[in-house]
Amino acid sequence: MNRIAAGEVVERPASALKELVENALDAGARAISVGLRQGGLDGIVVTDDGHGIARDEMPIALERHATSKLPDEAIEQVRTLGFRGEALPSIGSVSRLTLSSRQAGGDGWRIVCDNGVLSDVEPCAMPYGTRVEVEGLFARVPARRKFLRSPRSEYAACLDIVRRLAMARSDVGFVLEHDGRRVLSLPASQEREDRVAQLIDRELADNHVIVELEREGVSLAGVASLPTFHRGSADHQYLFVNGRPVRDRLLVGAVRGAYADFVARDRHPVLALFLTIPVEEVDVNVHPAKTEVRFRDPAFMRGMIVSGLRRALDAAGMRVINRPDAGSTELWQRDAEPGFGPAQLPSSGTFLPDWSSRGGAGGGTPLFADRQARFSGFAPSGRAEPAVAMPTDEARAFPLGVARGQVARTYIVAEAEDGLILVDQHAAHERLVLERMRKALADGSVARQALLLPEVVELDEPACDRIEARIDELGELGLEVERFGPAAMLVRAAPAMLGLSDVTGLVRDLADDLAALGDATSLKGRLDLVAATMACHGSVRAGRVLSVAEMNALLREMEVTPHSGQCNHGRPTWVKLAHGDIEKLFGRH
Ligand code: ADP
Ligand code: MG
Repeated sequence: MNRIAAGEVVERPASALKELVENALDAGARAISVGLRQGGLDGIVVTDDGHGIARDEMPIALERHATSKLPDEAIEQVRTLGFRGEALPSIGSVSRLTLSSRQAGGDGWRIVCDNGVLSDVEPCAMPYGTRVEVEGLFARVPARRKFLRSPRSEYAACLDIVRRLAMARSDVGFVLEHDGRRVLSLPASQEREDRVAQLIDRELADNHVIVELEREGVSLAGVASLPTFHRGSADHQYLFVNGRPVRDRLLVGAVRGAYADFVARDRHPVLALFLTIPVEEVDVNVHPAKTEVRFRDPAFMRGMIVSGLRRALDAAGMRVINRPDAGSTELWQRDAEPGFGPAQLPSSGTFLPDWSSRGGAGGGTPLFADRQARFSGFAPSGRAEPAVAMPTDEARAFPLGVARGQVARTYIVAEAEDGLILVDQHAAHERLVLERMRKALADGSVARQALLLPEVVELDEPACDRIEARIDELGELGLEVERFGPAAMLVRAAPAMLGLSDVTGLVRDLADDLAALGDATSLKGRLDLVAATMACHGSVRAGRVLSVAEMNALLREMEVTPHSGQCNHGRPTWVKLAHGDIEKLFGRH
């Protein structure tokens, strides 16, 4: 048996686990239970109630290339999950694998494959179904063992595998235990949306739309979050093709396209989409682990996903915003950065009220939280207050002008000496908070504010592990957290400058950021990313009604803050329409 070749199928516990669970699904199991020890490094046990294996077939199942579920040569006609007949032999060649099985009406039998050496088949007592136990993976193959990561990382990879397979098959019950602790317990015959919510985020249960679309023999189904429910990374977007979990960049792009008008570019909806397509339209054999696909017609699939999502969002009352035509938007300009600098400005008297502690547009997620309401035919909310009388020379000194009102509860309208200015209140405020945080860190003085009641934030275990590993660094940033059981964190204090109302959202997004950062990078090294996430959660939301005094305070602070012309994601925070441009718009030139 070629042990190196085994690496094609089995490179780490998670890949072995994937093969074992897929075999159980292929065997028609209705309930699958997975037990892991030390992230699967010490042991993996998969038990199912499927049709089992006949006594005589058991040695054959462990002989390389001896079995194959392929009925004929047509490698493209793959309908079952496994099709190469090499998973069990590969795993058995690099571990101690015990296969026990009992078919309906028959007796139980057991065979052991110890690093490639087969035992005799012996009787054993067990319920109907199959049980595969893998111990000491790569224990005798040091060259491979040394590539394995920590039990925590291996566990995270195993959890991801089980999660994806369980999402694909909401008809099958799953139990997952790690080091004796029950991590997942999913009943059989769940509705797909319930299963997806249970696996991704329970709040999704009340914040989703159902996706359903058929076109030219291809069908798309699934569950997608409302635009108000989003996360800081695209990690919570799942795609399944013919029941198989796959990773494909096409998904991220298509989702972005579909939600472009509803969700900021750096925010990502949460979803699970299931494509059912004729087998000849897809090549699943690209990668040995079969997590990549190649579509014959990727543009068509992308179109399917965009239309499917758009329709579902439409039906839920989200309307796509009408874009103004290009000609008129060209007139809106932004002064080259920095059009003005702290040096030219009155440095005194700027202050920033505590925007964030005044009840915002609702809990949960801050950014554009109110767009949904505005796009579903909400009454226009433009609003002007009698402007505070402002001496002319003083107004002249303010490059961003004097606030005249607020549009759509999102944009501040200000009048400057030479034109009209629109400010995106959320983007602008986020930038100010980031700059304040940078300064506080540089001074080594990030003030913390203790929460009245420490807040428990539920997260999955790997996410908690990632945060726990960074507790000290987060503390320096003003966030005081501690581990609270296997799948929750306890937040005791948050950076005072954020005036946080949504601690849960912040901690979840930070967990996503840390996943993106990986183990190596220090938070100091990627301070911008973390500080930006914090700033985003501590910022005045779109949808907040602001008084003229508050608006002016925001404008004044923007003027004295470096880089305030761009939000943390590189978009402008304000634009200007010069007087001459206004005249052009009205044909007075
Ligand atoms: P493949 O799945 O590609 O056929 P595997 O090496 O994964 O190859 O499995 C070998 C064979 O062992 C399968 O074809 C199947 O007949 C049998 N087998 C493996 N696991 C199970 C199971 N959980 N229940 C029933 N049969 C199984
Ligand atoms: Mg298989």
